[in-house]
Amino acid sequence: MRKKIVAGNWKMNCLLEEGQKLTSEIVNMIKDEPIKDVQVILNPPFVHLHGVKKLIAGVDNIYLGAQNCSDQNSGAYTGETSAAMLTSFGAEFVIIGHSERRAMFNESNELLTEKTKQALSNNLTPIFCCGEPLEIREAGTHEAYVTKQLTESLFGFSEEEVKKLVIAYEPIWAIGTGKTASSDQAQEMHSAIRQHLSSKYGKTVAEGISILYGGSCKPDNAKEIFSKADVDGGLIGGASLKSRDFVDIAK
Ligand code: PGA
Repeated sequence: MRKKIVAGNWKMNCLLEEGQKLTSEIVNMIKDEPIKDVQVILNPPFVHLHGVKKLIAGVDNIYLGAQNCSDQNSGAYTGETSAAMLTSFGAEFVIIGHSERRAMFNESNELLTEKTKQALSNNLTPIFCCGEPLEIREAGTHEAYVTKQLTESLFGFSEEEVKKLVIAYEPIWAIGTGKTASSDQAQEMHSAIRQHLSSKYGKTVAEGISILYGGSCKPDNAKEIFSKADVDGGLIGGASLKSRDFVDIAK
């Protein structure tokens, strides 16, 4: 059985008190209405990690993740945060290769391989993001585009390493736009991703990897999208900043 996961990507949002309030609300709701069989992950900005970790301590099924990590171990890299630091602050997951980082911070498929290596060697589960821009979707070459992202970043890893990954498919045209992929579009791509993983690592490995959908997920569309066979949960942006919406999506 693959793990079902709902991860909140706060992006660059929440001042100190806002982040603490959001976390406390989510924790209280989950204590009142336990969510079974779903891993709920909060991915706040780095400065919130320590505070969020304290608030979620001891609550079943809530985990801490970060939104990025360095491709380097340690040293003179001003402004960077290493995977080892994230682990030491209690993070268990890290988002790698979000489209905003690929586009705004020029993160290449090769760099993302290095970040994934750092995450894996520091016991973090990478939530590895892929997804196509609108013009690629319109040209009909989206499967080739996404599978190439995965090949270039991930296919140098061993079977044992790849088994530890979570993949997030996030069509760029659906992120923050209010326009989701239809559940059929999501299923089609998730199935293509799984087949692609299977072609390199075999069916058993591919069947064990959770593939999340991201892009304008809301309480009113999550159920339909998550009902598809190859969709194992979601990476949630905007709606993860509203405690009720986020918990409802996880439920
Ligand atoms: P969104 O963002 O839910 O606001 O569309 C998703 C993401 O970027 O992870």
